[in-house]
Amino acid sequence: MADAPTTLVILGASGDLTRRLLLPGLGSLLRIEPDRHVVVLGADRSEMTQDEWRQRVSDSLAEAEVDGEVVERIVAAARYEQTDALDPEQLRALVDGVEDGLVIYFALPPQVTVGVCELLAAIDLPEGTRLAMEKPFGHDLETAVQLNEQATKVVPEDQIFRIDHFLGVNTVLNLLGLRFANRIFQPLWSAEHIERVDICYDESLALEGRAGYYDKAGALIDMTQSHLLQVLAMFAMESPASMDPEEIRSLKAQVLRATTLWGDDPLTASRRARYTAGTIEGREVPDYTAEEGVDPGRGTETLAQLIVQVRNQRWAGVPFVLRSGKALGDDNKQITVTFRAPAHVPDGLRDCGAPDKLILELRPGAVTVEMSVNAEGDPFELTQKQLHTPLGQPRMKPYGEVLAGILDSNPLLSIRGDNAEQMWRIVEPVLDAWRADEVPMEEYAAGSGGPDGWDRVPG
Ligand code: NAP
Repeated sequence: MADAPTTLVILGASGDLTRRLLLPGLGSLLRIEPDRHVVVLGADRSEMTQDEWRQRVSDSLAEAEVDGEVVERIVAAARYEQTDALDPEQLRALVDGVEDGLVIYFALPPQVTVGVCELLAAIDLPEGTRLAMEKPFGHDLETAVQLNEQATKVVPEDQIFRIDHFLGVNTVLNLLGLRFANRIFQPLWSAEHIERVDICYDESLALEGRAGYYDKAGALIDMTQSHLLQVLAMFAMESPASMDPEEIRSLKAQVLRATTLWGDDPLTASRRARYTAGTIEGREVPDYTAEEGVDPGRGTETLAQLIVQVRNQRWAGVPFVLRSGKALGDDNKQITVTFRAPAHVPDGLRDCGAPDKLILELRPGAVTVEMSVNAEGDPFELTQKQLHTPLGQPRMKPYGEVLAGILDSNPLLSIRGDNAEQMWRIVEPVLDAWRADEVPMEEYAAGSGGPDGWDRVPG
């Protein structure tokens, strides 16, 4: 735990991310690590009094059940400065006087980020200053490269924290323990034994008033291009010697560099769809295009699927099916590993024919193994049974885990610049094909399981 005080400058302090995710994340961190010294310096163009800002910080910490004395200490040190982050003098004044331990958190609209980096590059920032950046990291490969170039003019790469809160989800982190501390899985973790891997994040939640952000992003950019490719990298990477952040980030980059679309063809490797009116658990959900704030002309998808391959010796030939969407009938948030059939089943043994599966549920966390065992009665009649264990409760919110990494200068849970570029490189052909309308927009009723036939992998 860091003892030195850190000044956490939040640019975009009155925005949605700060309110819904960042301050609650800080609260969940301080609840279990109350000795941290953090000066929460909010900055935004909006007018806000010191009392109003302190009240916001106080409410978030209290809601996270942070100890009362800790709340008082953090709130007493917190302050707010009305600032236009694109005004060089105002930006300079904001960070002026911070001696060391400075974190600049970009909770800003993405279109502002590069401009703010340009201005920060001209300011003499304290040694060890860290930048925390929110996705999207650019909007295609070219702009991701530009953003990285600008950000590294401000501070070195290992002081840039690109946030992906999925990397702070305990069940995603659990992949490392599951894979590398269990002998039973290690020899099976390759194309020799695995037939396919499905990484799915289906939500029953619909738009829930988030059109402002979501209608511009869509399911592919909101989930697949970012979170699901990171999960793929954790799933498929080689074994590290230690938990050294640079080693792990390099191993993930190696996977992403080897990843391409299935069949190298965006038309067969991708599917997209949008929900129409329907019912989810008794709740009426309108057609997506009728949701408040949606521009139907944008043609935003609410369900996206991408099939990719990892072109290396371990994984060649295994389809990785990445899928995520909204307003589906079930919350299906899991990695499903389907194993190949045994090379031979003895004649006379009545196998049920179902493949063995390892299912890693992401929310709530659980591990399930599905396998063929003797059914009751005839010992040679096999049936599919499950071994199931829930995972422990997370110690804090994912944003708390991510913030702990930033405050401790440990980039393990943040995305390195080359990883961010590779993620755009992988999806760019799909975005081009979708923009050119070469992949049809399918439909599914809210509350359904999505369009039929998506689980078939094209040969
Ligand atoms: P938001 O609600 O629009 O908040 C952005 C904030 O930035 C606003 O308070 C805005 O306030 C402020 N701002 C804009 N220009 C500014 C400037 N020049 N100087 C100072 N402040 C400025 O957006 P958000 O949803 O919080 O998203 C922030 C970032 O997080 C985005 O990059 C987004 O992609 C990312 N993100 C958001 C979520 C989420 O769930 N919200 C999830 C993942 C990632 P004024 O216009 O009043 O100044």
